[in-house]
Amino acid sequence: MSAKIIDGKAFAANLTARIGEVVKDAMAAGAPQPGLAVVLVGNDAASEVYVRNKIRTTEASGMASIEHRLPASTSQDELLALIDTLNNDHAIDGILVQLPLPEQINADAVINAISPEKDVDGFHVVNVGRLWAGLPSLVPCTPYGSLLLLKDALGDLSGMNAVVVGRSNIVGKPMAQLLLSENCTVTIAHSRSKDLPAICREADIIVAAVGRPDMVKGDWIKPGAVVIDVGINRMESPERGEGKTRLTGDVDFNEAKEIASAITPVPGGVGPMTIACLLRNTLVAASRRQGFSLPKDMM
Ligand code: NDP
Repeated sequence: MSAKIIDGKAFAANLTARIGEVVKDAMAAGAPQPGLAVVLVGNDAASEVYVRNKIRTTEASGMASIEHRLPASTSQDELLALIDTLNNDHAIDGILVQLPLPEQINADAVINAISPEKDVDGFHVVNVGRLWAGLPSLVPCTPYGSLLLLKDALGDLSGMNAVVVGRSNIVGKPMAQLLLSENCTVTIAHSRSKDLPAICREADIIVAAVGRPDMVKGDWIKPGAVVIDVGINRMESPERGEGKTRLTGDVDFNEAKEIASAITPVPGGVGPMTIACLLRNTLVAASRRQGFSLPKDMM
Protein backbone atom coordinates (compact mmCIF):
# COMPACT_ATOMS: atom_id res chain seq x y z
CA MET A 1 0.00 0.00 0.00
CA SER A 2 1.26 3.50 -0.68
CA ALA A 3 -0.11 6.19 1.59
CA LYS A 4 -2.00 9.28 0.53
CA ILE A 5 0.41 12.19 0.88
CA ILE A 6 -1.34 14.92 2.86
CA ASP A 7 -0.73 18.21 1.10
CA GLY A 8 -0.35 20.69 3.93
CA LYS A 9 0.90 23.36 1.56
CA ALA A 10 -2.31 23.31 -0.49
CA PHE A 11 -4.51 23.07 2.63
CA ALA A 12 -2.70 26.04 4.19
CA ALA A 13 -2.99 28.08 0.98
CA ASN A 14 -6.77 27.48 0.91
CA LEU A 15 -7.10 28.35 4.59
CA THR A 16 -5.07 31.53 4.14
CA ALA A 17 -7.18 32.54 1.13
CA ARG A 18 -10.35 31.91 3.15
CA ILE A 19 -8.99 34.03 6.02
CA GLY A 20 -8.33 36.79 3.49
CA GLU A 21 -11.97 36.65 2.34
CA VAL A 22 -13.25 36.83 5.91
CA VAL A 23 -10.96 39.78 6.71
CA LYS A 24 -12.18 41.58 3.60
CA ASP A 25 -15.85 40.96 4.44
CA ALA A 26 -15.39 42.04 8.07
CA MET A 27 -13.64 45.27 7.04
CA ALA A 28 -16.31 45.97 4.41
CA ALA A 29 -18.87 45.66 7.23
CA GLY A 30 -16.97 48.25 9.29
CA ALA A 31 -14.54 46.19 11.38
CA PRO A 32 -11.05 47.66 11.85
CA GLN A 33 -8.15 45.97 10.05
CA PRO A 34 -6.80 43.13 12.25
CA GLY A 35 -3.18 43.75 13.25
CA LEU A 36 -0.42 41.30 14.18
CA ALA A 37 2.73 42.55 15.89
CA VAL A 38 5.79 40.34 15.39
CA VAL A 39 8.74 40.87 17.72
CA LEU A 40 12.15 39.54 16.75
CA VAL A 41 15.07 39.88 19.16
CA GLY A 42 18.55 39.24 17.78
CA ASN A 43 19.68 37.75 14.48
CA ASP A 44 18.90 34.01 14.61
CA ALA A 45 18.97 32.96 10.94
CA ALA A 46 16.04 30.49 11.12
CA SER A 47 13.94 33.03 13.05
CA GLU A 48 14.61 35.64 10.35
CA VAL A 49 13.17 33.27 7.73
CA TYR A 50 10.10 32.42 9.84
CA VAL A 51 9.42 36.08 10.61
CA ARG A 52 9.76 37.08 6.96
CA ASN A 53 7.26 34.38 5.97
CA LYS A 54 4.86 35.38 8.71
CA ILE A 55 4.95 39.03 7.69
CA ARG A 56 4.44 38.22 4.00
CA THR A 57 1.50 35.90 4.66
CA THR A 58 -0.11 38.28 7.15
CA GLU A 59 -0.04 41.12 4.63
CA ALA A 60 -1.30 38.84 1.83
CA SER A 61 -4.35 38.02 3.96
CA GLY A 62 -5.23 41.71 4.30
CA MET A 63 -4.17 42.11 7.91
CA ALA A 64 -1.68 44.68 9.14
CA SER A 65 1.73 43.34 10.09
CA ILE A 66 3.74 45.43 12.53
CA GLU A 67 7.34 44.41 12.90
CA HIS A 68 9.58 45.16 15.88
CA ARG A 69 13.25 44.22 15.50
CA LEU A 70 15.36 44.53 18.62
CA PRO A 71 19.10 43.96 19.04
CA ALA A 72 20.42 40.74 20.63
CA SER A 73 21.58 42.86 23.60
CA THR A 74 17.97 43.84 24.51
CA SER A 75 17.27 43.42 28.22
CA GLN A 76 14.24 41.61 29.59
CA ASP A 77 12.87 44.89 30.99
CA GLU A 78 13.14 46.56 27.59
CA LEU A 79 11.26 43.70 25.94
CA LEU A 80 8.61 43.69 28.68
CA ALA A 81 8.16 47.44 28.16
CA LEU A 82 7.49 46.85 24.45
CA ILE A 83 5.01 44.05 25.28
CA ASP A 84 3.22 46.43 27.63
CA THR A 85 2.95 49.05 24.88
CA LEU A 86 1.59 46.45 22.43
CA ASN A 87 -0.88 45.12 25.02
CA ASN A 88 -2.29 48.63 25.30
CA ASP A 89 -2.29 49.42 21.58
CA HIS A 90 -5.86 49.10 20.35
CA ALA A 91 -4.76 48.51 16.75
CA ILE A 92 -2.86 45.34 17.72
CA ASP A 93 -4.94 42.16 17.96
CA GLY A 94 -2.13 39.62 18.12
CA ILE A 95 1.39 39.67 19.56
CA LEU A 96 3.97 37.11 18.54
CA VAL A 97 7.40 37.04 20.12
CA GLN A 98 9.64 34.86 17.98
CA LEU A 99 11.45 32.17 19.98
CA PRO A 100 14.20 31.44 20.88
CA LEU A 101 15.08 34.59 22.81
CA PRO A 102 18.64 35.58 23.81
CA GLU A 103 19.75 33.92 27.04
CA GLN A 104 19.47 37.06 29.22
CA ILE A 105 15.68 37.00 28.64
CA ASN A 106 13.34 34.59 30.42
CA ALA A 107 10.96 33.39 27.68
CA ASP A 108 8.23 32.34 30.16
CA ALA A 109 8.21 35.81 31.73
CA VAL A 110 7.81 37.38 28.31
CA ILE A 111 5.12 34.96 27.09
CA ASN A 112 3.09 35.43 30.26
CA ALA A 113 3.38 39.24 30.00
CA ILE A 114 1.43 39.14 26.72
CA SER A 115 -2.24 39.85 27.21
CA PRO A 116 -3.98 36.42 26.93
CA GLU A 117 -6.47 37.96 24.47
CA LYS A 118 -3.56 38.85 22.14
CA ASP A 119 -1.54 35.66 22.71
CA VAL A 120 -1.87 34.30 19.16
CA ASP A 121 0.76 31.62 19.81
CA GLY A 122 -1.49 30.22 22.55
CA PHE A 123 1.45 29.81 24.96
CA HIS A 124 0.21 32.01 27.85
CA VAL A 125 -0.71 29.98 30.95
CA VAL A 126 -4.25 31.35 30.78
CA ASN A 127 -4.71 29.97 27.27
CA VAL A 128 -3.03 26.69 28.26
CA GLY A 129 -5.43 26.36 31.20
CA ARG A 130 -8.45 27.30 29.12
CA LEU A 131 -7.56 24.70 26.49
CA TRP A 132 -7.26 21.95 29.13
CA ALA A 133 -10.49 23.10 30.77
CA GLY A 134 -12.34 22.90 27.46
CA LEU A 135 -12.99 26.67 27.40
CA PRO A 136 -12.58 28.97 24.37
CA SER A 137 -8.90 29.84 24.04
CA LEU A 138 -6.21 30.68 21.54
CA VAL A 139 -4.71 27.32 20.60
CA PRO A 140 -1.02 26.77 19.69
CA CYS A 141 -0.70 26.95 15.91
CA THR A 142 1.29 23.80 15.04
CA PRO A 143 -0.95 21.35 16.92
CA TYR A 144 -4.07 23.12 15.69
CA GLY A 145 -2.82 22.90 12.10
CA SER A 146 -2.04 19.22 12.61
CA LEU A 147 -5.56 18.63 13.90
CA LEU A 148 -7.09 20.34 10.86
CA LEU A 149 -5.10 18.01 8.58
CA LEU A 150 -6.18 14.96 10.60
CA LYS A 151 -9.85 15.92 10.49
CA ASP A 152 -9.60 16.53 6.78
CA ALA A 153 -8.03 13.09 6.26
CA LEU A 154 -10.21 11.12 8.67
CA GLY A 155 -13.40 13.06 9.40
CA ASP A 156 -14.63 12.05 12.85
CA LEU A 157 -11.72 11.09 15.11
CA SER A 158 -13.96 9.74 17.86
CA GLY A 159 -12.74 6.56 19.54
CA MET A 160 -9.45 6.41 17.68
CA ASN A 161 -6.20 5.52 19.44
CA ALA A 162 -3.83 8.46 19.09
CA VAL A 163 -0.18 8.41 20.11
CA VAL A 164 1.62 11.73 20.42
CA VAL A 165 5.39 11.29 20.59
CA GLY A 166 6.82 14.34 22.37
CA ARG A 167 5.47 16.29 25.34
CA SER A 168 6.65 19.86 24.77
CA ASN A 169 4.43 22.73 25.82
CA ILE A 170 4.28 24.08 22.28
CA VAL A 171 3.47 20.88 20.37
CA GLY A 172 3.09 17.57 22.23
CA LYS A 173 0.92 18.56 25.19
CA PRO A 174 -1.55 20.82 23.32
CA MET A 175 -1.73 18.23 20.51
CA ALA A 176 -2.73 15.57 23.04
CA GLN A 177 -5.41 17.82 24.51
CA LEU A 178 -6.84 18.66 21.07
CA LEU A 179 -7.05 14.95 20.23
CA LEU A 180 -8.68 14.25 23.59
CA SER A 181 -11.26 16.95 22.87
CA GLU A 182 -12.00 15.09 19.60
CA ASN A 183 -12.73 11.98 21.71
CA CYS A 184 -9.57 10.09 20.84
CA THR A 185 -7.95 7.77 23.37
CA VAL A 186 -4.63 9.53 23.76
CA THR A 187 -1.19 8.30 24.79
CA ILE A 188 1.63 10.80 25.24
CA ALA A 189 5.05 9.20 24.73
CA HIS A 190 8.41 10.81 25.52
CA SER A 191 12.08 10.05 26.03
CA ARG A 192 11.42 7.88 29.10
CA SER A 193 8.62 5.84 27.51
CA LYS A 194 9.34 2.11 27.47
CA ASP A 195 9.11 0.24 24.15
CA LEU A 196 8.07 3.17 21.99
CA PRO A 197 7.69 1.02 18.86
CA ALA A 198 5.08 -1.13 20.65
CA ILE A 199 3.22 1.98 21.86
CA CYS A 200 3.16 3.40 18.33
CA ARG A 201 1.94 0.09 16.84
CA GLU A 202 -1.32 0.52 18.79
CA ALA A 203 -2.04 3.87 17.17
CA ASP A 204 -4.65 4.73 14.55
CA ILE A 205 -3.07 8.20 14.58
CA ILE A 206 0.61 8.95 15.25
CA VAL A 207 1.80 12.51 15.75
CA ALA A 208 5.59 12.69 15.90
CA ALA A 209 6.99 15.86 17.51
CA VAL A 210 10.41 14.90 18.74
CA GLY A 211 13.19 16.58 16.76
CA ARG A 212 14.99 13.33 15.86
CA PRO A 213 15.40 12.68 12.15
CA ASP A 214 13.61 9.58 10.77
CA MET A 215 13.09 8.13 14.26
CA VAL A 216 9.65 6.57 13.67
CA LYS A 217 10.22 3.52 11.47
CA GLY A 218 7.84 1.76 9.12
CA ASP A 219 7.50 -1.25 11.41
CA TRP A 220 6.37 1.02 14.28
CA ILE A 221 3.24 1.86 12.31
CA LYS A 222 -0.01 -0.08 12.31
CA PRO A 223 -1.09 -0.76 8.71
CA GLY A 224 -3.54 1.94 7.67
CA ALA A 225 -2.66 4.41 10.44
CA VAL A 226 -2.49 8.14 9.71
CA VAL A 227 0.89 9.73 10.44
CA ILE A 228 1.46 13.42 11.15
CA ASP A 229 5.13 14.34 11.12
CA VAL A 230 5.73 17.61 12.96
CA GLY A 231 9.51 17.28 13.06
CA ILE A 232 11.73 19.66 11.14
CA ASN A 233 15.35 18.51 11.08
CA ARG A 234 17.92 20.18 8.87
CA MET A 235 20.40 17.63 7.53
CA GLU A 236 23.58 18.00 5.53
CA SER A 237 22.99 16.95 1.95
CA PRO A 238 26.29 16.55 0.08
CA GLU A 239 24.45 14.87 -2.84
CA ARG A 240 22.87 18.26 -3.54
CA GLY A 241 26.23 19.98 -3.55
CA GLU A 242 28.78 21.18 -1.05
CA GLY A 243 27.30 22.86 2.02
CA LYS A 244 23.74 22.09 0.91
CA THR A 245 21.11 20.95 3.38
CA ARG A 246 17.69 19.33 3.22
CA LEU A 247 14.81 19.04 5.68
CA THR A 248 13.61 15.77 7.07
CA GLY A 249 10.94 14.89 9.60
CA ASP A 250 10.84 12.66 12.67
CA VAL A 251 9.31 9.82 10.64
CA ASP A 252 11.17 7.63 8.17
CA PHE A 253 8.97 8.78 5.29
CA ASN A 254 10.02 6.18 2.71
CA GLU A 255 9.28 3.30 5.07
CA ALA A 256 6.17 4.82 6.62
CA LYS A 257 4.44 5.66 3.35
CA GLU A 258 4.32 1.94 2.49
CA ILE A 259 2.42 1.14 5.71
CA ALA A 260 0.33 4.19 6.62
CA SER A 261 -2.92 5.14 4.88
CA ALA A 262 -2.00 8.84 4.90
CA ILE A 263 1.10 10.79 5.91
CA THR A 264 2.35 14.37 5.95
CA PRO A 265 5.61 15.01 4.09
CA VAL A 266 8.46 17.21 5.36
CA PRO A 267 8.61 19.82 4.01
CA GLY A 268 5.10 20.62 2.77
CA GLY A 269 3.03 19.00 5.52
CA VAL A 270 2.54 20.53 8.97
CA GLY A 271 5.01 23.40 8.46
CA PRO A 272 2.81 25.58 6.21
CA MET A 273 -0.18 25.00 8.52
CA THR A 274 1.57 26.74 11.40
CA ILE A 275 1.54 30.16 9.72
CA ALA A 276 -2.00 29.69 8.39
CA CYS A 277 -3.18 28.92 11.93
CA LEU A 278 -1.33 31.95 13.27
CA LEU A 279 -3.40 34.10 10.91
CA ARG A 280 -6.54 32.26 11.95
CA ASN A 281 -5.72 32.96 15.61
CA THR A 282 -5.12 36.63 14.83
CA LEU A 283 -8.51 36.81 13.12
CA VAL A 284 -10.20 35.07 16.06
CA ALA A 285 -8.45 37.41 18.53
CA ALA A 286 -9.53 40.43 16.47
CA SER A 287 -13.14 39.28 16.28
CA ARG A 288 -13.28 38.79 20.06
CA ARG A 289 -11.61 42.12 20.86
CA GLN A 290 -13.30 44.22 18.20
CA GLY A 291 -16.67 42.52 18.56
CA PHE A 292 -17.32 41.30 15.03
CA SER A 293 -18.65 37.85 14.31
CA LEU A 294 -16.93 35.14 12.27
CA PRO A 295 -18.40 32.57 9.91
CA LYS A 296 -18.66 29.09 11.49
CA ASP A 297 -15.68 27.65 9.58
CA MET A 298 -13.36 30.24 11.21
CA MET A 299 -14.40 29.74 14.85
P1 NDP B 1 11.18 19.71 22.19
O1 NDP B 1 12.64 19.45 22.09
O2 NDP B 1 10.70 20.80 23.05
O3 NDP B 1 10.46 18.35 22.66
C1 NDP B 1 10.83 17.13 22.12
C2 NDP B 1 10.04 16.02 22.79
O4 NDP B 1 10.47 14.78 22.22
C3 NDP B 1 10.29 15.93 24.29
O5 NDP B 1 9.07 15.75 24.96
C4 NDP B 1 11.18 14.70 24.43
O6 NDP B 1 10.93 13.93 25.61
C5 NDP B 1 10.76 13.87 23.24
N1 NDP B 1 11.83 12.97 22.85
C6 NDP B 1 13.13 13.26 22.64
N2 NDP B 1 13.81 12.14 22.31
C7 NDP B 1 12.92 11.13 22.32
C8 NDP B 1 13.02 9.75 22.07
N3 NDP B 1 14.18 9.17 21.74
N4 NDP B 1 11.91 9.00 22.18
C9 NDP B 1 10.74 9.56 22.52
N5 NDP B 1 10.58 10.88 22.74
C10 NDP B 1 11.67 11.65 22.66
O7 NDP B 1 10.68 19.87 20.69
P2 NDP B 1 9.38 20.60 20.09
O8 NDP B 1 8.15 19.95 20.60
O9 NDP B 1 9.53 22.06 20.19
O10 NDP B 1 9.58 20.23 18.54
C11 NDP B 1 9.56 18.89 18.08
C12 NDP B 1 9.88 18.89 16.61
O11 NDP B 1 8.87 19.60 15.92
C13 NDP B 1 11.20 19.56 16.23
O12 NDP B 1 11.76 18.88 15.12
C14 NDP B 1 10.78 20.95 15.81
O13 NDP B 1 11.68 21.53 14.89
C15 NDP B 1 9.46 20.65 15.17
N6 NDP B 1 8.52 21.78 15.15
C16 NDP B 1 7.88 22.03 13.98
C17 NDP B 1 6.98 23.06 13.90
C18 NDP B 1 6.27 23.28 12.60
O14 NDP B 1 5.84 24.36 12.33
N7 NDP B 1 6.10 22.23 11.80
C19 NDP B 1 6.73 23.96 15.02
C20 NDP B 1 7.37 23.55 16.24
C21 NDP B 1 8.26 22.50 16.28
P3 NDP B 1 11.27 14.48 27.10
O15 NDP B 1 10.18 15.42 27.42
O16 NDP B 1 11.25 13.24 27.91
O17 NDP B 1 12.62 15.14 27.00
